[in-house]
Amino acid sequence: MMEDNIRSILSELPEGVTLVAAAKTRTPEEISRAIDAGIEIIGENYVQEAEAAFAALGRIARWHFIGHLQKNKVKKAVPIFDMIETVDSLKLGEQIERECEKLGKNMPVLVEINSGREPQKSGVLPEDAEKLIRELSRLERVHVQGLMTMGPRFGDPELARPYFQETKRLFDQLSKLGIENTEMRYLSMGMSNTYEIAIEEGANMVRIGTRIFGERDYK
Ligand SMILES: *Cc1c(COP(=O)(O)O)cnc(C)c1O
Repeated sequence: MMEDNIRSILSELPEGVTLVAAAKTRTPEEISRAIDAGIEIIGENYVQEAEAAFAALGRIARWHFIGHLQKNKVKKAVPIFDMIETVDSLKLGEQIERECEKLGKNMPVLVEINSGREPQKSGVLPEDAEKLIRELSRLERVHVQGLMTMGPRFGDPELARPYFQETKRLFDQLSKLGIENTEMRYLSMGMSNTYEIAIEEGANMVRIGTRIFGERDYK
């Protein structure tokens, strides 16, 4: 049951590791139960789903955007989310900045790293991350607070390890640069089948869906 899943995950997570419940396809009722059971951060992939959940639940949890953010959805996303984990271009950062300005809001963001170097996937390549972060650091309301990666999906969770290692190395290198208006505070990596490995490799934020809510029907 969901409540037992949450209790067992929360009791096993090492101190300092933040849990994001990845809630795509889940109803506001399911999300509400998760929050009652101790979840504090909800991760959403789709702005439309997030709008419905947010309308029903509001700020009883914090909301992280973890999907691919289309430029035409930024306007709807910015008022809802407390963090956007998937910034991978200056253009997207600038659009977030513009909407933040209108609302007088600041937005913590993570830069998504395409650690698997998969051409069709979102995220910036590891070697391009520093340049992007330096550009984003000039924005006033967008604050880079770390990195996020998905890594390629394999059947065997062990195969994800090198991608987490590479992202952690990048995180450590970037921390040392002391870029203004930039923190390397959160390293978001690992999902249901890989989060233990991600934590071993330095993740301090994990995004877990299936192991909390059960199998998804679609998406
Ligand atoms: C769906 C999703 C997750 C969680 O996946 P599970 O395998 O269900 O734990 C984590 N991160 C992102 C970006 C996702 O889209």
